[in-house]
Amino acid sequence: MIIRLPYCENCGDQYKYQASGHYCLDTPQEYNDKEYCPECKKAIIDALAPIEKKSIIKWIDAEGIDLKTIKRWEEEKIAERKFLEGNQGPFLPLMKRVFITPPGNDTIHIQGREAYSHMFFHCLYNIKTNELVSLTTKVRVDLEDKILEYLSD
Ligand SMILES: [Zn+2]
Repeated sequence: MIIRLPYCENCGDQYKYQASGHYCLDTPQEYNDKEYCPECKKAIIDALAPIEKKSIIKWIDAEGIDLKTIKRWEEEKIAERKFLEGNQGPFLPLMKRVFITPPGNDTIHIQGREAYSHMFFHCLYNIKTNELVSLTTKVRVDLEDKILEYLSD
């Protein structure tokens, strides 16, 4: 857990900001902000509350794509990096991010290629068994959950 003591961008007061870990400060978590103190953050949230939402960004299950394709794209990314960086390793795909996940699981964020170049995928698979855990894509939807666009990052 990381607690910081920044100065508020608006009022200049020093306050506690929790940057990571299980939340444990006295103030409500929705007011925990790295730029604004809880009092100013509350004022911002209250001021924005009456404004109607027009769309929402979220991850949905990806259709028409499989782990084999994601892994081929990953290999292509590595090959491109080897070409661009003069064959000095070790190489990891630029888009790969490994988070702390259940043992044996590996997480990849990868930009789509070919017909899927306008999409961005999050893939979680077991690196030992190659079993797919989840494969999702990032979209912007309207309030009726209709897809307005696929997001490329
Ligand atoms: Zn403030």
